[in-house]
Amino acid sequence: MHCPFCATPDTRVVDSRLSAEGDRVRRRRECLRCNARFTTYEVAELLMPPVVKRDGRREPFQEEKLRTGLMRALEKRPVSAERIDEMIQQVKNLIRTSGERELSSQQIGEWAMTELRRVDPVAYIRFASVYRSFEDVNAFLEEVDRLQQSPGVIRSV
Ligand SMILES: [Zn+2]
Repeated sequence: MHCPFCATPDTRVVDSRLSAEGDRVRRRRECLRCNARFTTYEVAELLMPPVVKRDGRREPFQEEKLRTGLMRALEKRPVSAERIDEMIQQVKNLIRTSGERELSSQQIGEWAMTELRRVDPVAYIRFASVYRSFEDVNAFLEEVDRLQQSPGVIRSV
């Protein structure tokens, strides 16, 4: 790898370590000409299919969008940041293993809702009301009703 400062092709690795999660390697490199040090990361390339939005436009999958939506739904709910990370990871796994060349934003929303429903039914209702855009009040109430009938679900929805 060439030096980003002076572009000389000769750099050497002075330190190499695996991240705690084991999903990336961090390397410290040193330029043999200008002695500048810099860091490179090695991660597995896992291709995410493009997301087709409701209006038909395509965009790359944006983890931050999903995180923002989940965090909005989980506002003031007793769910840890780690748990949210796990949910995002789970949705990403579903996207990667779908085998589809493209995915609708609606499908991704559905997966996110499935995760939410498992983790926090109250937040699920909030998220669903935004992403599924409940047709009318009845649809919303049906959903609440359905949740209340599911075993093991918080009754304070
Ligand atoms: Zn250099």
